[in-house]
Amino acid sequence: MQSVNPLNGEVIKDYIPHTATEVNNKIQSANKAFKSWENTSFETRSAYLIKLGEVLRHRKEELAELMALEMGKPLEQGIAEVEKCAFCCDYYAKNATSFLQKQLIDTDASKSFVSFQPVGVVLAIMPWNFPFWQVLRFFCPAIMAGNAAVLKHASNVPGCAMAIESVVREAGFPEGLFHTILIGSKEVDAVIEHPLIKAVTLTGSTEAGKQVAAKAGSLIKKTVLELGGSDAYIVLADADIDKAVEICVNSRLINSGQSCIAAKRFIVVKEIAEEFSSKFHALMKNKHYGDPLQKGSSLGPLARHDLRDQLHTQVHQAVAKGAKCTLGGFLPEGTGAFYPPTILTGISKSNPAYLEEFFGPVALLFIAENEEQAIDIANDTSFGLGSAIFTKDQVRGEQIAETKLQAGSCFVNAQVKSDPRLPFGGIKESGYGRELGLFGIHEFVNIKTVYVG
Ligand code: NAP
Repeated sequence: MQSVNPLNGEVIKDYIPHTATEVNNKIQSANKAFKSWENTSFETRSAYLIKLGEVLRHRKEELAELMALEMGKPLEQGIAEVEKCAFCCDYYAKNATSFLQKQLIDTDASKSFVSFQPVGVVLAIMPWNFPFWQVLRFFCPAIMAGNAAVLKHASNVPGCAMAIESVVREAGFPEGLFHTILIGSKEVDAVIEHPLIKAVTLTGSTEAGKQVAAKAGSLIKKTVLELGGSDAYIVLADADIDKAVEICVNSRLINSGQSCIAAKRFIVVKEIAEEFSSKFHALMKNKHYGDPLQKGSSLGPLARHDLRDQLHTQVHQAVAKGAKCTLGGFLPEGTGAFYPPTILTGISKSNPAYLEEFFGPVALLFIAENEEQAIDIANDTSFGLGSAIFTKDQVRGEQIAETKLQAGSCFVNAQVKSDPRLPFGGIKESGYGRELGLFGIHEFVNIKTVYVG
């Protein structure tokens, strides 16, 4: 297992994957830690989580540099990611106690109540794109609920995976409560089969989700799946166009375009199509890629050369099937895995690009006859992660967000983002279950009924 710098293809470090025996030992050790941890008070758990937030804030520059080197994230974005992780620690340290309070319910019993009990060791399978945030947003609620965790991170970010183990250790959590296991995806089935693994969470592609869910389902182990997305941003005729353009471009290019909830499809009604398209084009063109460690690089290299090449093939195929590339769409010279901001238009329903996720800085622009058709195009996808609507009519915007758009999160005049205070997750092939907020902490607990006659 290697971590390779996508800026120049150089190997940063070699890692020796854990053997099956080592993995088993780590799962056993996590389960041993769980046996004591499940009996600790919320106050004790909160204190550890607050300390973890402090460690993350203290080490944010070092961790951001690691992300820049290992997967190309621009430094400032990496620092913001680590700060968000620390905020998540504080949020659950403060709120988990009330989220997991016993709930008394009036029935014919002399006493009946609901209690939230931990499930044990949870396996987390995570992607490389937000290597700290994806892990921490699972870790904080799961640990506060009394569980232990084992992390199988993406194979191209072993440095980040080990760093997460190190910050958890530095925060003083009991030995064994959290382990990183360095294994490839082929070894995951055996981990899911381990009797001490009680549940699985996966953030990643829909394909991986299907395979992990099938395996876990065959063993009746619960899964939470946070999968791919192709978020649609609808711009109506009465929208503030400048604001919409700025948000759309930022959302498309966040993390160099490699975000599940990046805006990927832009659906504008015909009255404003020309104005939106020209302003969108100008702003996309103005964003430049460069060394992620240099200040001012809006975009870094994509995380791996093969992923960049795959993205280019998708663009190429879309054009071969009739789409028009009005910006970018070429492979830059040099050693970095860079890809330029790219815009595709004229994508017909028969074009494979119509249904695909573009995991990089490629925008798909659609023109709709009217609001109704815009909503139809937005929903005409197998994905259902996020979506946004831009209009000055807030009531109408809210109504469309609440009742018309098929997605787990719908934003009005704003960029779709995750926030520890709000539940996050998808519908359709974007997955099931929720992370974050009150709902996220209830995923890996036994919602237990106690009835006293
Ligand atoms: P990926 O290839 O699915 O990998 C994600 C994780 O799953 C990695 O740890 C990977 O391990 C593992 N994995 C892959 N195939 C597996 C299998 N058959 N069985 C068990 N584990 C398997 O995804 P990615 O390319 O890293 O990330 C991009 C995708 O993730 C995009 O579709 C994106 O939209 C989605 N994503 C979703 C969210 C969300 O919250 N909904 C957030 C971020 C990303 P290896 O690295 O060893 O292959």
